[in-house]
Amino acid sequence: MTDEPTNQAPRHVPADLPGRIQHYIGGKFVDSADGDTFDVLEPVTNDVYLQAAAGKQADVDLAVAAARDAFLNGPWPRMLPRERSRILHRIADIVESRDARLAELESFDSGLPITQALGQARRAAENFRFFADLVVAQADDTFKVPGRQINYVNRKPIGVAGLITPWNTPFMLESWKLGPALATGNTVVLKPAEFTPLSASLWAGIFEEAGLPAGVFNLVNGLGEEAGDALVKHPDVPLISFTGESSTGQLIFANAAPHLKGLSMELGGKSPAIVFADADLGAAIDATIFGVFSLNGERCTAGSRILVERAVYDEFVERYAEQAKRVVVGDPQDPRTEVGALVHPEHYDKVVSYIEIGKSEGRLVAGGGRPEGFETGNYVAPTVFADVPPSARIFQEEIFGPVVAITPFDTEEEALALANGVRYGLAAYVWTNDLKRAHNFSQAIEAGMVWLNSNNVRDLRTPFGGVKASGLGHEGGYRSIDFYTDQQAVHITLGKVHNPTFGKGA
Ligand code: NAD
Repeated sequence: MTDEPTNQAPRHVPADLPGRIQHYIGGKFVDSADGDTFDVLEPVTNDVYLQAAAGKQADVDLAVAAARDAFLNGPWPRMLPRERSRILHRIADIVESRDARLAELESFDSGLPITQALGQARRAAENFRFFADLVVAQADDTFKVPGRQINYVNRKPIGVAGLITPWNTPFMLESWKLGPALATGNTVVLKPAEFTPLSASLWAGIFEEAGLPAGVFNLVNGLGEEAGDALVKHPDVPLISFTGESSTGQLIFANAAPHLKGLSMELGGKSPAIVFADADLGAAIDATIFGVFSLNGERCTAGSRILVERAVYDEFVERYAEQAKRVVVGDPQDPRTEVGALVHPEHYDKVVSYIEIGKSEGRLVAGGGRPEGFETGNYVAPTVFADVPPSARIFQEEIFGPVVAITPFDTEEEALALANGVRYGLAAYVWTNDLKRAHNFSQAIEAGMVWLNSNNVRDLRTPFGGVKASGLGHEGGYRSIDFYTDQQAVHITLGKVHNPTFGKGA
């Protein structure tokens, strides 16, 4: 593949693209047992640029067997947390030292703007560092009990964790699961999204170089309904951590039920940003533009519904639309690009079909489809609909692209009803300078995470997760450690044993 001219600037195509991707099982790269592969497209041209091994039941069986053997017989679960921590820090060092290359490949594979992909690569390193430190810092619970007894909690890795990830920010989201799963001594089988398998294939080399024992990390590529399904149903995988669509989450929930597996589900969203008339309007506009158009709008926490108090509604809509029109759409590899190409033509068709639906549901004030000058590729202009009623599909359903619905409100009660009036409950953003209202309103919102006069900044110690159709359980900080460990309570008597005298007569 060569550099070709595009709408914007000469195209940059990363050097040394692999051409084919295999599974990684028990420390070795392997093809699928049946030799099957699937096509991977690059989002700017939709050309097939690599073939990935298409894993099925047989490949998942091999990967789970390797992970189980490493768990039962290998050193990893038996190491002290500080020993594992050292290897995790080395992983973070390697990721950091390759951030530019990782970003280049991730951007090429997923269509994410390169500057944002770079931020995600650094965040992946940060995730490993964070969990490396956390497992060492974590104090084991020990309780002194009357009668010279001690109770303590023995945290144990659970076994083979199945990690199933989506295509938006794939490398970073994988790190978010791999970091805590490995830090706590589990072994893993990762099934990355089939649209974007490139960056996941790099973990194997990184882990080998950092000294992770063979069999601890295993990777099976493939389709969700084949490789993903086999992993979910595998009897030797007691844990599934899944990030993806709510409908897939429901299916996984049902398929995991017969085995009573531990489940963590990070699912879809339709998060509201609520802007009151007393807010700093400029800051609210900047944040809500970023909140829905960054990462191409393919962001689970995107503030894709903006509710604006009537007194500032017209001004907000006008300024918002003007700014949205100035968002730079371009080749994902161009550092000036703010919105790149959507991941895949199937997803592009979905987003564009929502835009067409939106044209009859609201008032189009910016964008509306393919931007001028972009004849090919999965490009969508940042699209803004105003006056969107709550019954509209573009108000209710997750679009997962650069599309936003703006709706006016008159009272705080109405704003709350609108904010909560969808099936999702992942994130919410509140803009007001009234302190009491800010807290009362934020606490009444049905969302796992609320940002108050703030954008998506979060400390890794805080819980991450949604309510309603947006998820089950929380990740982040100790919550991740809890998910990936069994907590066995051990009760010991140090002094004389005071047994109840049952069966000795009166
Ligand atoms: P998806 O549900 O289509 O796929 C996610 C993963 O699940 C992929 O690896 C896929 O192959 C696999 N999969 C599909 N069917 C499966 C099955 N039957 N059994 C097992 N695995 C299966 O989601 P997507 O389109 O890749 O990702 C976008 C979605 O992810 C959006 O809804 C977005 O909001 C959500 N998301 C949520 C968060 C969060 O933290 N809440 C973060 C990122 C993305």
